[in-house]
Amino acid sequence: MHPPRFTAEPPSIDPVEPDSIVGDVSGRPSSPASSTDSAPRTYDVIIAGCGPTGATLAAELRLHDVRVLVVEKETEPSSAARIVGLHIRTLELMAMRGLLERILPHGRQRPASAFFAAIPKPAPKGLDSRYAYLLGIPQPVIERLLEEHAVELGAQVRRGRAVTAFEQDDEGVTVELADGERLRSRYLVGCDGGRSSVRKLLGVGFPGEPARTESLMGEMEVGVPPEEIAVKVAEICEAHQRFWLRPAGVGVYSVLVPAAGVSDRAEPPTLDDFKRQLRAIAGTDFGVHSPRWLSRFGDAMRLADRYRVGRVLLAGDAAHIHPPIGGQGLNLGVQDAFNLGWKLAARIRGWAPETLLDTYQAERRPVAEEVLDNTRAQTELLSTESGPQAVRRLLTELMDFDEVNLRLLEKITAIGIRYDFGAGPDLLGRRLRDIDVKQGNLYGLLHHGRGLLLDRTERLTVGGWSDRVDYLADSTAALDVPGVLLRPDGHVAWIGDDQQDLNDHLSRWFGRPAD
Ligand SMILES: Cc1cc2nc3c(=O)[nH]c(=O)nc-3n(C[C@H](O)[C@H](O)[C@H](O)COP(=O)(O)OP(=O)(O)OC[C@H]3O[C@@H](n4cnc5c(N)ncnc54)[C@H](O)[C@@H]3O)c2cc1C
Repeated sequence: MHPPRFTAEPPSIDPVEPDSIVGDVSGRPSSPASSTDSAPRTYDVIIAGCGPTGATLAAELRLHDVRVLVVEKETEPSSAARIVGLHIRTLELMAMRGLLERILPHGRQRPASAFFAAIPKPAPKGLDSRYAYLLGIPQPVIERLLEEHAVELGAQVRRGRAVTAFEQDDEGVTVELADGERLRSRYLVGCDGGRSSVRKLLGVGFPGEPARTESLMGEMEVGVPPEEIAVKVAEICEAHQRFWLRPAGVGVYSVLVPAAGVSDRAEPPTLDDFKRQLRAIAGTDFGVHSPRWLSRFGDAMRLADRYRVGRVLLAGDAAHIHPPIGGQGLNLGVQDAFNLGWKLAARIRGWAPETLLDTYQAERRPVAEEVLDNTRAQTELLSTESGPQAVRRLLTELMDFDEVNLRLLEKITAIGIRYDFGAGPDLLGRRLRDIDVKQGNLYGLLHHGRGLLLDRTERLTVGGWSDRVDYLADSTAALDVPGVLLRPDGHVAWIGDDQQDLNDHLSRWFGRPAD
C-alpha cells in the first residue's frame, strides 16, 4: 500500500463529533424554538454564495444528509445572460448524479474542438468519453438547474443575505449576515466569487497578476455572408490582439473585441459598444444584430494561497480567477465542489480519515494552477506580437498530430486530470470513464454520491464499509483491470484483486469500517 502523500495543513482545529449539532436530516436547521430564543440557528455547513459552485456543493452535501444553508447576497438569481460552455468532465459529473438529462434540453451541443486559444482544429480522435462534446448553456439557466437540484435534495437557500463577518472556534463557525443575524455551523465554505468576502475576512492571500486589459465578449447574429467574414477576420487577426469573430451556431457568431475606450465599466456593454469597437478595428461592424448575450471581463489571474483555514474553506472563483479564454472557470468551480462535497460530508458524518479534508487543497489547488497556466498560454497565443504569432503558427501545425490536439483538449475539458495517489498504474488517480456494466452504465450507479467497488473477479467485498461504498460484481464490465475502487467523485482510488490491499485503501479513503 502507498502511504497518503498529501500536503499537511497546519493542525486541524476540528476533532469533530459526528452529528453533535441537533437537527433533523432534511437540511433544516435545529429550530430556535428548541434552544433559547437568542441562540443562533445551527447547521452543519453554511455556504456563502449560490453561484454554480455553491449550488453544486450544497447538492453534494445533501446526498449525505448534511444540514446545509446557502446564503446568497443577491435577492434574485443572476441575469447575466452569457452562454457558458460545459466541458466533458463537468458533463460526466452531471451524468454521475443523474442531472445530465435535465440539463441537455436547455443547451446546445457543439463539437469538442477549437477550444485551445480558439485554434480551429477538429476534435481529435480517441476522445475517451461517452460525453465528448461541449454544451453551450446560458449561465443563469445552469445556475437555476443546479440550485433547484440542491433545494430538491433538501438544501436551504436564503437570498438577499450577505456574509459580512465570521469567527471560528474549536467547535464551529459563527457567521454574521449583513442584517446582523448570527448563524452557527460546523463549517463555512466561501463560494462567493472572485471578490470573495470569506477569503478576505480569512486573510488568505490571493496573489497573481492584476488585470492589464479588458475585453468585450458576446454572441450575436451578423449581416454579411460567412465567406466575407472569414477573409476579413483573417486579415484583422494579423494586426489586432484579443479579437475574434467566429461561428457559434447557425447564423450566430462569437465576438471578442478589446474594451479600451468603452467607458462606463459599471454598466453592462451594449450592442452599440460592440459595433463601435468592430468598426474601429475592421472598418465594418459586420451588420451585427440580435445579441444573445454581451459581457465584459478583465484578464486578472489569481490563486488563493490556501483553500482551507481550520473550519473555513474556499471553492470556485473565490479560490481562483482567470480570463474566460477556453471557458474553464465555471467548470473548475463545479469540479472543486465535487471534490470537496463528500470529504466534508465524511468529516461531518464522523467517518473521515484524519487527512481526508486536507486532500481537497492538495488535489484541487494544483489543478487550478494548471488552468491558470494554460489560460496564460492561450492569452499569449492571442497576441499579435510576432513572437507569439510564430508560436501560434507552430502550435497550429503541431495540432495536426492527434496526440498534441488530444493532450490540449484533455487539459481544457479536465478529463486528463490525474491526482497523486502514489505510485501505481496510469489509471490510478484518474477519473474512470462511463463504461457499460451489466446493470446499464457505470455512471448510473453513482447517483447517490457513494464510493463504488467494481469487481470483475466477483470475489472481493466491501465488508464493513458497505454503509459508504457500494459493490458491483461484474466479470463482464468493460475494464482491463480486475477491480477498481471509485471515490464518490469518480476518481480511481485503488486497482487490483487483493482483498487485504483493498481493505487498506478502503481505510485510507473511507475511514474505519463499521463494527
Ligand atoms: C464573459 C465570460 C464568459 C465565461 N464563459 C465561461 C465558460 O464558457 N465556461 C466556464 O466554465 N466559465 C466561464 N466563465 C467563468 C464563470 O462565469 C465563473 O467562473 C463562474 O461563474 C464561477 O462560479 P462561482 O459559483 O465560483 O462564483 P460566482 O458565479 O461569482 O458566484 C458567487 C456568488 O456569491 C454571491 N456572493 C458574493 N459575495 C457574497 C457574500 N458576502 N455573501 C453571500 N453571497 C455572496 C454572488 O452574488 C454570487 O451569486 C465566463 C466568465 C465570463 C465573464
